[in-house]
Amino acid sequence: MAVDPLIELRDVNKHFGSLHVLRDINLTVGRGEVVVVIGPSGSGKSTLCRTVNRLEPVDSGTILLDGRPLPEEGKSLARLRAEVGMVFQSFNLFAHKSVLENVSLAQIKVRGRKKEQAEARSRELLERVGLAAHAGKYPAQLSGGQQQRVAIARALAMDPKALLFDEPTSALDPEMINEVLEVMRQLARDGMTMVVVTHEMGFARSAANRVVFMADGSIVEDRAPEEFFTAPESDRAKDFLSKIL
Ligand code: ADP
Ligand code: MG
Repeated sequence: MAVDPLIELRDVNKHFGSLHVLRDINLTVGRGEVVVVIGPSGSGKSTLCRTVNRLEPVDSGTILLDGRPLPEEGKSLARLRAEVGMVFQSFNLFAHKSVLENVSLAQIKVRGRKKEQAEARSRELLERVGLAAHAGKYPAQLSGGQQQRVAIARALAMDPKALLFDEPTSALDPEMINEVLEVMRQLARDGMTMVVVTHEMGFARSAANRVVFMADGSIVEDRAPEEFFTAPESDRAKDFLSKIL
């Protein structure tokens, strides 16, 4: 893929106390690219995601979004989090707000849209994730897969430049995983730039442009999925794949 970098991490290091959780991370995510991040538990995948929308500060190195360093604080940080949406394992919807309100709220507060304008956009996005009929319901009335699709619609409502997914299907019952992955596949086809931490290797094979394999805070491999899955180079990756495939 021609490189038109949207997210760039250069020599990023991060510690939690004495634990070195990100070690000299260099990663470029091109516009429209889908990068799947895999690796053992504790290897730093979530921390990597969290540094990109600055939920975690880094100790050293640089992170660029669209060629500009991430902002440090204040208003521009809220704007950054709108530009780089994040979808978590736990959907984090507001329990006491309807689906429509959940998707509309940040549009009004962060993007400054009028209520009617925000709700019109929300309805479009709910249609896109297959939930148009559920706009008036509350999160507890939806299945886990439906709630996660609401969370995706909410992230999309900010018109993000990129979306980060941290194990978006790990909390779901098996029969709901595919409906969420299908929405993500559609986003990928529509050209959304995505970083996806997942254990769904079928998704990695079918939707990713690249697979990044992490272990102990380092990026050990960064390759096309068909290469990674058929001929992993490192012992760490071979070992990991032998356990999960
Ligand atoms: P992964 O998502 O790959 O499982 P994480 O990024 O969550 O890995 O964690 C990497 C390492 O950092 C783990 O050893 C984890 O225990 C540790 N860690 C993560 N968050 C914190 C935190 N807020 N404080 C201290 N240690 C943390
Ligand atoms: Mg994690």
